Amino acid sequence: MRAKRSKKYRKLMHQYEMTFGFREPYQVLVDSNFLHAVDQFKMDLLPALERTLQGTPKPLLTKCSLAAIMAKQPINPRTNTPYRPMHLPPPTILPLRHCSHNAEHTPIDEVECLLSLLSPNAEVKKNKEHYILATAEPPAAKKSDKADNPAQRKRKTEEEREEERAMRRSKALRFGARAIPGVPIIYVKRSVMVLEPLSTQTEAVRDGHEMSKFRAGLDDPEIGDKRKHDGEGEDGGERKKIPGLKKAKGPNPMSMKKPKKRVEANAGGAKKQRVESEVAEAEAEGEQSGAAKTKRRRRHNKSGDADAAPVAEAEADA
Ligand SMILES: [Zn+2]
Repeated sequence: MRAKRSKKYRKLMHQYEMTFGFREPYQVLVDSNFLHAVDQFKMDLLPALERTLQGTPKPLLTKCSLAAIMAKQPINPRTNTPYRPMHLPPPTILPLRHCSHNAEHTPIDEVECLLSLLSPNAEVKKNKEHYILATAEPPAAKKSDKADNPAQRKRKTEEEREEERAMRRSKALRFGARAIPGVPIIYVKRSVMVLEPLSTQTEAVRDGHEMSKFRAGLDDPEIGDKRKHDGEGEDGGERKKIPGLKKAKGPNPMSMKKPKKRVEANAGGAKKQRVESEVAEAEAEGEQSGAAKTKRRRRHNKSGDADAAPVAEAEADA
């Protein structure tokens, strides 16, 4: 069971790497419910995240999540500030992610904060900083078993209402995160930490990504068509200018094909470092090196814009 699950998670993270450019160390935004659950079920933050992501995690706590945690803490009468809760790891383990949502830098609602970090643009949903969301079932309200007197009964319903509210917010957070393509979601429910399967939105982008890779592989017939057009279209006035250009270009697609392979071979020299690091990553992922190799090569064919950008981003993040 354990081995099966870790293989599943490794495959999941591999998909996020291939389609969205995720790289280790993975940046994980942990929320207040997650930290509470990790403490409640006596998990170790870093090893638990590492097991779930099958890679090195870099957990982060937003200022707004910190504010949400502190808001529930009793006030220390001597300092007039909330006590630091036991379940809050030190900043060396869990650094603060400085977020600013307004001119005064005052914290906002935790759910709103996290969703705005996951996708800074509310219209074009894109997780460009490659964050992973780690959240949990909200803590259950302590059930007061004896509700004989009306005052206690009233308090109980108040607690239940609070619990319902927390549950709604927790669902809204995950619902919102799933609507952003490329957001891995870690969720703790009843002492089990899981990595959610790809959301519908994430799958849609991945499938589109697969399609564009597929189309890139269909270049050859297009080149054939173009040459046909060149031959037939010489009567057109506008065509006459273009054929001159296209004749010069004509052989290029053919010669392009061979250099492509040479470029690939040369890539070992030119992009040696990058390839080496990617191979090392593929090896770290283990077991599926065969599949990884073919996929990686396809990425090189595309090279340039689509892939270079996420890599650069990821490096900038690290
Ligand atoms: Zn915030």
